[in-house]
Amino acid sequence: MPIPIEIKVPDIGDFKDIEIIEILVKPGGSLKAEQSLIVLESDKATMEVPTEVAGVVKELKVKLGDKVSQGSLILLLDAAGQIASPAPAIASPGANKDAPLQPPPTPSIATPSTKPSADFDAEVVVLGAGPGGYTAAFRAADLGKKVTLIERYETLGGVCLNVGCIPSKALLHTAKVIADAADAAHHGVTFGAPKIDLPEVRKFKESVVGKLTKGLSGLAKQRKVTVIQGNAKFASPKSLSIETKDGVKTLSFDNCIIAAGSQAVKLPGFPWDDPRLMDSTDALLLQDIPKRMLIIGGGIIGLEMATVYEALGAKVSVVELMPQLIPGADPDIVKPLHKRIEKRYEKIYLKTKVTKIEALKEGLKAHFEGEQAPEPQVYDRILVAVGRRPNGKLINAEAAGITVNERGFIPVDKQQRTNVPGIYAIGDVIKGPMLAHKAEDEGIALAEILAGQAGHVNYDVIPGVVYTSPEVAAVGKTEEELKAAGVDYKAGKFLFLANGRAKANQTTDGFVKVL
Ligand code: NAD
Repeated sequence: MPIPIEIKVPDIGDFKDIEIIEILVKPGGSLKAEQSLIVLESDKATMEVPTEVAGVVKELKVKLGDKVSQGSLILLLDAAGQIASPAPAIASPGANKDAPLQPPPTPSIATPSTKPSADFDAEVVVLGAGPGGYTAAFRAADLGKKVTLIERYETLGGVCLNVGCIPSKALLHTAKVIADAADAAHHGVTFGAPKIDLPEVRKFKESVVGKLTKGLSGLAKQRKVTVIQGNAKFASPKSLSIETKDGVKTLSFDNCIIAAGSQAVKLPGFPWDDPRLMDSTDALLLQDIPKRMLIIGGGIIGLEMATVYEALGAKVSVVELMPQLIPGADPDIVKPLHKRIEKRYEKIYLKTKVTKIEALKEGLKAHFEGEQAPEPQVYDRILVAVGRRPNGKLINAEAAGITVNERGFIPVDKQQRTNVPGIYAIGDVIKGPMLAHKAEDEGIALAEILAGQAGHVNYDVIPGVVYTSPEVAAVGKTEEELKAAGVDYKAGKFLFLANGRAKANQTTDGFVKVL
């Protein structure tokens, strides 16, 4: 005879009065041990409450929208006498030793003895919800892992979705439409000068970002990934301490994936409290279109933002420390871009740097040094885009004993393992190009490795694209790298000048090179 028992909300840390956003069972339905009953959502976490007892639902005691806390009655169950261990739901005890020992669902009481007791427990916790982090979290969840994703900002997506690749792509498209409209004159079609409604340009960019970040939250929910908003730091080799809106919470884990990303390098000694001095995040806010703008750093961000601001009407200058723009690329593939933009931009200074910036009422006065250094110049805005620094030093890695090098990178092996068992790292915080698709590939490979599969990243074929006009794109070794390595190679080049489609499009700058 089944024994009716009460199934209650288990210990869910300090959470109280949390809304039920989904009820996953019906009266009369049969339940397996560990099966989820309801989904709760607070402002910083979504969590499922499972039963530890198998049986048939006799009566539901909650409805959608109810607010529950630890001990609230969820349902009455006609138990089938099976109890899986360990699970957090409160029910009459009597553990069944034959029940499979499953990884604890979240939230749960930490089980392995090496883990400290904590507010939350995760089989896999991912620190950082950028492209590397969310991809790893989603893939691991798809492969059956109980995953928690921690992000310090309100939206998922990291720098790339919120203040990087995606907003810049939206603005670069706007820039391309303006440039194409001007080029159409060569085809016999003339448009008037563009009228730029800056708030609308910003609104479009923000709507693109909003749709994508919201989409990520939906994908996390679908996969039952628990999302916690807060700033996580290591407390021990098996736990994190998370600063949330509701105070500091602790989380114990079996496996942790560090996907903490990077931040823009802020050259010291510059007047960073002046809003006219910008990093890439500031530049993407598009506060206004400066009449005269200086971009320090002729790398990827510098040249993409130059494309946007120039199309919108700014007089742009670029100052680059090295002898060519995009220094890592072969000089010949950068040349068509250089030739085009030197005609459009006010100045491009190579082998030059800015030594001092003075914040004056009329603008920011830049002092230059180097082979092509001009006299000091005053600009309405200056963007500093001289590279990004990994966030390895911001996560209290020493509490877990994780090695972080002096630049903030975390050394890992081919399987993304750090020096501490159970702790892995991917994306900008480890070696390799700081590219979203590289981080994603690492995230997928690592999730597969954690699920016992053979994940692998082929670092030899990571493509890179600079979304300028013309674009500069490459995959594999550069010609300079082959020469330096003494590799015997042949180069084949085809000029777009001889390509019919390129002629028709008026995009005959440049070529394709195969080595
Ligand atoms: P970057 O390394 O591409 O370029 C920085 C440039 O600044 C280099 O050319 C460097 O020589 C120059 N520089 C350094 N110090 C200088 C100084 N004091 N004065 C003048 N020039 C100086 O870095 P970034 O453009 O800041 O981009 C950061 C990262 O973001 C890159 O790793 C990039 O891969 C990634 N990113 C990629 C894309 C894309 O894939 N399309 C777009 C944006 C950013």
